[in-house]
Amino acid sequence: MKTAVIGSGIGGLAIAARLAKRGYDVTLYEKNSTPGGKVSQIKERGYRFDTGPSLFTLPNLVDEIADIKYFKLDNSCRYFYPDGTKFNFYQDPEKLKEETIKNSSEDYANIEKRLKDSSDIYNLTSDLFIFNSFSKISNFLKPENRKIPLKLHKMGFHRSMHSANKALFKDRHIVQLFDRYATYNGSSPYRAPATLNMISHLEHNIGAFFPENGIYAIVESLYKKGVELGVKYLFNTPVSSIIIDKKSHTAKGLVVNNQELFYDIVVSDCDVKYLSENMMPCNIRHPLGNRLKQLEPSSSALIFYWGVKGEHPQLDVHNILFSDNYKKEFDSLFYKMNLYKDPTIYIFISKKAVPADAPQGCENWFVMVNAPANIGQDWHSIITKTRGEIIKKINHTLGADSTFDIEKQIEFEHIASPVTIEKNTLSSRGALYGSSSNSIMAAFMRHPNFLRKFKNLYFVGGSVHPGGGIPLCLAGAKIVEREIIERDNWKGKE
Ligand SMILES: Cc1cc2nc3c(=O)[nH]c(=O)nc-3n(C[C@H](O)[C@H](O)[C@H](O)COP(=O)(O)OP(=O)(O)OC[C@H]3O[C@@H](n4cnc5c(N)ncnc54)[C@H](O)[C@@H]3O)c2cc1C
Repeated sequence: MKTAVIGSGIGGLAIAARLAKRGYDVTLYEKNSTPGGKVSQIKERGYRFDTGPSLFTLPNLVDEIADIKYFKLDNSCRYFYPDGTKFNFYQDPEKLKEETIKNSSEDYANIEKRLKDSSDIYNLTSDLFIFNSFSKISNFLKPENRKIPLKLHKMGFHRSMHSANKALFKDRHIVQLFDRYATYNGSSPYRAPATLNMISHLEHNIGAFFPENGIYAIVESLYKKGVELGVKYLFNTPVSSIIIDKKSHTAKGLVVNNQELFYDIVVSDCDVKYLSENMMPCNIRHPLGNRLKQLEPSSSALIFYWGVKGEHPQLDVHNILFSDNYKKEFDSLFYKMNLYKDPTIYIFISKKAVPADAPQGCENWFVMVNAPANIGQDWHSIITKTRGEIIKKINHTLGADSTFDIEKQIEFEHIASPVTIEKNTLSSRGALYGSSSNSIMAAFMRHPNFLRKFKNLYFVGGSVHPGGGIPLCLAGAKIVEREIIERDNWKGKE
C-alpha cells in the first residue's frame, strides 16, 4: 500500500515507522530541512539546546517503535516560590516525604492520596480516552468500558483541577504545584477538569525520564528506525493540498510542487486547523471546519535560549519560579490573551543531565514563560518587557546578594515566540498542544483520527485525538496504525 505521511512531528515519525514495519510503502513529506517539528534543537558555540519539549514521560511508547536510552530523574522538578520557599519534587517516596516535612506544611498522606487518585483516574480512563479511537461508537461499548459510568465521580469531570487540589491540600504551595500539571497540555487549572490530575501519575508514579542524549534523541531514534524500515523522507518538501475525489470523498494523494502524486493512504501530522483552512482541495470543505474555528487553542510559549557562562548549583534540570498569583496569570493567558506581569518562569538546563550539552563551566538555559496563543499581539514589546521581568525575577530568586546579574553571564541568545512556533511548524496560533483542555467537553470536541466522510485519510499529532504532548502524539500514531490495519484486514508480519 502506497502511503504518504505529511509532517515529521512526533506523530508523523511514529506512524511512518509503525506502518513501514507492517510492510506499507511509506513516504514522508516535511516542509522543514530536519525532522521533529516542535521537537527541535539548536547547536551553537559548543552548546546544544532542545528547543521544544523538555519533559519526557511514558517512554515505553518510544520503546515500542525505536531504540533509545534514557534514565529516571532523581528530582522531577525544583520549585521556587515568591516567599523564598523551595521544594524538590523527588521521585523517591522516602525523599519526597522528608522534603514535604522539611519544606511544606502539607501532610505527606495528602500527596500520597493525590498520587493514588491520579493513578486510579489513569487506569480507569486511559484505555478509553488515550489509547482508543473516538471515531467509532462501538469502541465506547466494549465490555471493559462498561464499568466507567459507575465510577464517573472518581474521574473528576465535575470539578476543575484547582478545585480538587484546593479541597485536598492545605498548603497553597502544594496546590500551586499540582495545579501546574494543567500546563502540560497548555490549559488552565481553573478550567480544566480534575480528570487531568492524572498527569501527576505519569510524572510521578510512572516517572519523569530523560534521554541520555537529550530530548532530540527521541526524534533521532524514530527517524533512524524509519530509515531502517525503508521510510522515504523528503525534507524541504511542503505539501500544498490533499487530493480528494469529490464523488466518493476518498483521499487519492497530494499536491507537491504543483505536481499531483497518488497514494492509497494519506496520513496528516499537520495542525488540523491549518489543514482545514489551507490544504483542502478548492471544491471540498472540511466537514469539521467550523468546529475547528471555535475550539480554544492551548497556550503557547515565549522562550529564551541562553548560553550561560557560569554554573548554578541552586538549579536542577527542571526548575520553576512560580508567579505570585496563579489565577491572575491564567486569566491573563486565556481571557486577556496577554502575559501576566509576574509570569511563572520555567528554567530547563539539560547540561545538568547531559554534560556534553554545554562547554565546561557553562550551562545551556532554556527559559520559558507560558504565553497566550498568537492573535496578532505586539510581540516585539511583549518580548522586551517580559525579558526584563524574567531577568529581574531570576536575579532576585537565585542571587545570594544584589550583585548577582544573570544578564552578565549570557553569552548569546535565541528567542522563540508564538509567532516563530506558528511559522516553523504551521501550528495554528502557535499553540503548543492543539486545542486547550479547558472544558469537560474538550476531549470529545478534539478532531478524531479519521472521519467517515473521508476515506483513506487519517490524522495524527497534537491537534487531534488524543491531544498534544509527546506521549499523546505517540498514542495517536498507535491508534491510527490499528485503524489502518483493521481496515485493510491486515494479516502480514508482526
Ligand atoms: C516550547 C514547547 C514546549 C513543549 N513542552 C513539552 C514537554 O515538555 N513535553 C511534551 O510531551 N510535549 C511538549 N510540547 C508539545 C510537543 O512538542 C508537541 O505536542 C508534539 O511535539 C507535536 O507533535 P506533532 O506530531 O503534532 O507535530 P508537530 O511538532 O506539530 O510537527 C508538524 C510537522 O509537520 C510539518 N508540516 C506541517 N504542514 C506541512 C505541510 N503542508 N507539508 C509538509 N510538512 C508540513 C511541520 O513543518 C512540522 O515539522 C512542547 C512544545 C513546545 C513548542
